[in-house]
Amino acid sequence: MFRRRLMQWYRANARKLPWRGVTDPYRTWVSEIMLQQTRVAAVIEHYHDFLRKFPTIVALSLAPEAEVLAAWSGLGYYRRARMLHKASQFIVRERGGSLPTNEAGLRTLPGIGEYTGAAIASIAFGESIAVVDGNVERVILRITGRPQLATAAGRAFIQEQAQTLVPKKKLAHGVNAAGDHNQAMMELGATVCLPKGPLCGGCPMYWQCATRGEHVTAPRAVQRSLPAAFLLSLRKRGTATDVLLHRRDAAESLMAGMFELPPLPEEAVTGREPLLRVRHSITNTNYYVQVFAARGPRDKKMRLATTGKEEALEWVQTNRLAQQPLTGLARKVLQRLDVMEVRGIRLEDVEPEETTEPEGSLVVMDEDDY
Ligand code: SF4
Repeated sequence: MFRRRLMQWYRANARKLPWRGVTDPYRTWVSEIMLQQTRVAAVIEHYHDFLRKFPTIVALSLAPEAEVLAAWSGLGYYRRARMLHKASQFIVRERGGSLPTNEAGLRTLPGIGEYTGAAIASIAFGESIAVVDGNVERVILRITGRPQLATAAGRAFIQEQAQTLVPKKKLAHGVNAAGDHNQAMMELGATVCLPKGPLCGGCPMYWQCATRGEHVTAPRAVQRSLPAAFLLSLRKRGTATDVLLHRRDAAESLMAGMFELPPLPEEAVTGREPLLRVRHSITNTNYYVQVFAARGPRDKKMRLATTGKEEALEWVQTNRLAQQPLTGLARKVLQRLDVMEVRGIRLEDVEPEETTEPEGSLVVMDEDDY
């Protein structure tokens, strides 16, 4: 009864998402990796472009890592792109280009854990295995009337309940029963059984639900706030404009090898007015970011103050930024300031010899100034 009602609702109400109904397991894999901790709207923006650039596992495996990171730019959590790339190379080298067809095999690949392995196994291959993400957990807790417990026993309860509900048959009459069921559970959590303000009046599970509203949740991890400052430095070369970027070290634990704006220490920006303020959240940390522009062609103080390594600084042409592996924050800042395509910068207004621009103005320098 539960499953039938859920599936009736899903068939009538599921959102049309580009990765739904695809028959190529590679596409399901890419979508599931992109969807990890990322909003559906952001994934939609990148999914088609990524597959246009890398339409097959072989194409992905042959691409340079920088190209893969560039296509991932804006989605964050770049380790996912690196793992996807590494896994594609492993699949081509060791498995003749075919993905493993069950959860156990999928989990041997880099970047595929319990959730993703189950999602690909059930959606792409019809394995009868439960997919438990935050949406499914919430639906189960509310229907059963249990509070959320951040313990092994609490997680085991959810997993067991979810598995009980998954259809046992692998594929019936060409219908992927397990895959569709898992997607329906996630869809219910994402569109009806919302974390805040669940839409119980329109819920197909209303009569079977013990909670009918918000459930008791475990306390959330505390959010940290950290300040950060970056330099925006532009130079003009004929008709082209370059922006100074800093390549993060290959040994960094986060966003290794990616381009960011050159970081600035607090003492270099004290008393200066920023060009832009941006809030950027990464897991449990809110970064309060200020972006400063060098104040004139001879004002090299700011550039020299960067804590980035000199050899890691690179001038990149602004019309090539879209192809670069930029961090999400760098992309956000460059887009907000219209630097990505230099649309908002009026080069004819630039007076390279001027040294008295007001704080916060955007200055483009001539190449010779460096
Ligand atoms: S009735 Fe409300 S709380 Fe219960 S599953 Fe439906 S939306 Fe969630």
